[in-house]
Formats: sequence, structure tokens, C-alpha cells
Amino acid sequence: MSLPDVDADVLVAGGGAAGLVVATRLALDGRSVTVASSATPATLLSTGRILLDHDDPEAEEWASFFLAQFRRQGAHYVMSKRPVVAITNLGTGMRQSLTSPLFDWTSKDRDVAVVGLVGNSDLDPDLVSLEMGRSRRAKPRPYWFSPSFSPELDPGGFAEELGNVLMNDVAEGTVVLPPLPHNTPYGLLAELRKRSGKKVVEAATPLSWPGRRFQSLLEGTAERLGVRILRDRRLLSIDVNGREANRALLSSGVRTQRATFNGLVLATGNVVSGGLAVSGREVVDPLGLFRVSSARASGISSRQLRATLSSGLVTRRGKAVTTDGVSLRNVFAVGSLLRGMSYPLGRGLGDVMVHAWEIAPAVEEAL
Ligand SMILES: Cc1cc2nc3c(=O)[nH]c(=O)nc-3n(C[C@H](O)[C@H](O)[C@H](O)COP(=O)(O)OP(=O)(O)OC[C@H]3O[C@@H](n4cnc5c(N)ncnc54)[C@H](O)[C@@H]3O)c2cc1C
Repeated sequence: MSLPDVDADVLVAGGGAAGLVVATRLALDGRSVTVASSATPATLLSTGRILLDHDDPEAEEWASFFLAQFRRQGAHYVMSKRPVVAITNLGTGMRQSLTSPLFDWTSKDRDVAVVGLVGNSDLDPDLVSLEMGRSRRAKPRPYWFSPSFSPELDPGGFAEELGNVLMNDVAEGTVVLPPLPHNTPYGLLAELRKRSGKKVVEAATPLSWPGRRFQSLLEGTAERLGVRILRDRRLLSIDVNGREANRALLSSGVRTQRATFNGLVLATGNVVSGGLAVSGREVVDPLGLFRVSSARASGISSRQLRATLSSGLVTRRGKAVTTDGVSLRNVFAVGSLLRGMSYPLGRGLGDVMVHAWEIAPAVEEAL
């Protein structure tokens, strides 16, 4: 069983932060781009909080383009001059460069109440308060609230009820909530802010709505520029012809799909996302085509974990190198698939996206 063939200037395998950024920049330059992505990206699991190299002009270029695109989709971020410390849902600190002054909880906030919602395990106010007291950060006051309405099924009822409680029963001026679902990014927080008259923010939280929202902002940006995103599509194999590749096979379940292209970008992530795999004690390329090696790394006590996270595809001038040592002239690799780029050894989303932004002109040159 096969799906209709795909033909594009550039095929991007992997639709996380790296793949979507490179695809967006190529589409901006008028290229036809298809992204094929197989499963949940690490981007969606992350906190969506971004640390950039503030001295890098490319980071500024990336930010000025993407922040304008995000604003059009209802998410208002600013790039701070220096990193700001965000507070996580565990009460720990985390540096970030892009902040939404309206909705991010940061160490600058004073007079803070942390409100847990019964049934929502993303934020435990007692735990946060304990951790912040222990690390001598300003200790927030913990509250619990049991909502009668589901924020997902009845956002209006939820906002009205909680808005009244925050206005009448919470003394503090800043209220921290767990991330809430809504069809516009941060829509419910804005509504609660209006109803309660308080600053209502959320903690930096992985495996929850912030990562999903960030993923959907990136997908929205790419699609607005004409990028075609094929979800549930795995790159199965690549036909290599001498020093280049122009054909690949994709799959969705039992169905396959042929793809032809002038350039290929591998953005399939690290072991977390399936772009790399572990075989015995080795990290390998699951396509069995490319060379993998590890970078020097420190900072993680487990030797195995460090070796896994520091491993990645070998590239020469951005081009993927095969196990025979040939660098393919039109096949590039970006993102956490590269050695040394995996979080927390690399800076995470910020490095991944700026690198993907930088590499797009080289991809175009190779077409
Ligand atoms: C729990 C968690 C929390 C994190 N928190 C932070 C944080 O707070 N700040 C930060 O900066 N970074 C954080 N990170 C790291 C950050 O998420 C990653 O650095 C970044 O998302 C990597 O982006 P990527 O595009 O390289 O990979 P991904 O986002 O993983 O995208 C790769 C995509 O390729 C797909 N794929 C794999 N193989 C194939 C194939 N053969 N064919 C087609 N598609 C394929 C995968 O399914 C996936 O969808 C966190 C990561 C995790 C897991």
C-alpha cells in the first residue's frame, strides 16, 4: 500500500524545533519544502523556555523574525538584554532569554501566591514553597483550589469561578498557576488576569502545555509560509547516488511513500526522539547510513548518559558524513541529532533553532 509521491525542493525529516526552523527559512526564500515527522518531538516535551547566546547576531536575527510570527499567533515574547531567571514548577531557577512579561513567572516577581488545582499534577504549591524556602528564594504562599469546571471543557465557567476566588480570597498581587489548556496561547491566563485584577503567570513546566504551545507556534509559522507538514511520517531509507541523494522512502504505519528532492535535511533529534538509537553500548544512526561519534562533555555524573547525550551525527560543513567517510553534498544535519547539541550539554532549544536558522543558506546553495 502506498501514499501519493512527494516532490519538493527540500525534504526535511523531523518536525521539532530544528526541522521547523530550517524549513521556515527555506520557505521564506521561496523554496518548496516538505517536513516529514514521525512522532512526539522533544520540543513538545520541553518547557518551551529559550536561552540564547546574547552576543550572537544570528540569534537576534532568528528572534526578530520568529517573535513577530509568534505575536501574530497571540504569543507575546520579548528578548531580554541579559538572561532572566524563570521559576520552574519545582521551585528551581532556570535561565531564559525570551520572556513573556505578561505570563512567565520569574525571580523578579514578589508578593507571590502559588495556587495548585486539585486534579492537576503539574504544580504542587507546597512542594514549590518548600523548595524556594530551602534555597532562600522569596517564599511564595501556597494555596489549593478545587475547580467545579474543567478548564478544557468549560473555560468560561472555570475562568469566572477561579477569577472570583483570586480576587476575593488571595491576598498576594501575583498568582502562579499550573499551565492551562486553551485554544489561544495563554488565553485563559489573560482572562483570569482581567477578572481578578492580579498578575496571573505560569511556572516553567516540562511535559505539559508550554511545550505543546511552543511546538504549535513553530508549526503555525512554518505552515503560514507554505511549508507542508506530513505528520506520522517516518524516513525509512535514503537512496545515495555517489556524493548525493535525491530519493527517499517514507512510511506511515504499513503504508509507504516515495519522496524526491534536491536537498535533504536530517532533523530527527537524538535518542529521546528516535533520530539516534542505542545498540549495545553504542549510539548509532538508525538508518545505518551515517557516521556517529561523541563530543567532549562534562556536567553529567552518569558516564553512560553523558556518552549518549554527547553523541551525534558527524558533519563536514553542515553536511552529513556516511559511514564510508563521504560527505553528501546535498544532505545536511541540524538540531539535537548533532554531537554536543543535546540538552543539557548544549543550550537546548536556543542553540538548536539558531543553528537551524544559520544553516538554511548553505542548504540553498547545494540545491
Ligand atoms: C523533558 C524535556 C525537557 C526539556 N526542557 C528544555 C528546556 O527547558 N529548555 C531547552 O532549551 N531545552 C529543553 N529540552 C531540550 C529541547 O527540547 C531539545 O533540545 C529540542 O527540542 C531538540 O529539537 P530537535 O528539533 O533537534 O529534536 P525534536 O524536537 O526531538 O524533533 C525531532 C523529530 O524528528 C522525529 N523523527 C525521528 N526519527 C525520524 C525519522 N526517521 N523520520 C521522520 N521523523 C523522525 C521525531 O519523532 C521528532 O518529532 C528538553 C527536552 C526534554 C525531553
